[in-house]
Amino acid sequence: MARLLLVLFVLFMLLTVLRGLRIFLRAFFRDTAGLRKAGGPPAVRQAEMVRDPVCGTWIDRSIALPAHRGGAIVPVCSEECRRTLERAG
Ligand SMILES: [Zn+2]
Repeated sequence: MARLLLVLFVLFMLLTVLRGLRIFLRAFFRDTAGLRKAGGPPAVRQAEMVRDPVCGTWIDRSIALPAHRGGAIVPVCSEECRRTLERAG
């Protein structure tokens, strides 16, 4: 009889531990999923800065003017820099 009680007690403890573990794991995975979400690419596009090779000014690629030099397109800051670059080569 005492052995049966002992087995029941051990089973009960095991279930309790498993339940605790499950809650812990669920919380853990929810946390990492949240971190993944927060650490992912931001919704707002970050400005990509490029350097104008003519005057050395750093400009956002989205507002840079495309200048053509030797078949390549080079981003420059202004119409003046574009003319200078295209005249040079
Ligand atoms: Zn420039």
